[in-house]
Amino acid sequence: MSYYSFHSRSHVTPNKRYDQQMIRLNKGLQQSIYLLDKFYTKDTISGRNHMTFCVSGTTQNIYTVMIKDNNITCDCPDMKNTGEQYKTICKHCCFILFKVFRVSYADIFHS
Ligand SMILES: [Zn+2]
Repeated sequence: MSYYSFHSRSHVTPNKRYDQQMIRLNKGLQQSIYLLDKFYTKDTISGRNHMTFCVSGTTQNIYTVMIKDNNITCDCPDMKNTGEQYKTICKHCCFILFKVFRVSYADIFHS
């Protein structure tokens, strides 16, 4: 399931979800998050490349962001809690997408 799909399974309204995502986008762009390491692995069955990124957050903890099968996930608490509830991606995922890969967030969030 893509985190960008707007098919919400829960009671969460799109506006609330949008607001929650914008908070994380701003943190990902503005806070001091560092890319420590990255590596790619090839899935032997599908032949697809999986990407793994190690990032340090503002709390000095190190989190792992993975891009796999068109999904992006992170092992931080925010992704588990708010991510589960609102179907948002955390600031570490935003950092990877919009600062490292320079994906245009205007295209995604303001279209
Ligand atoms: Zn995270």
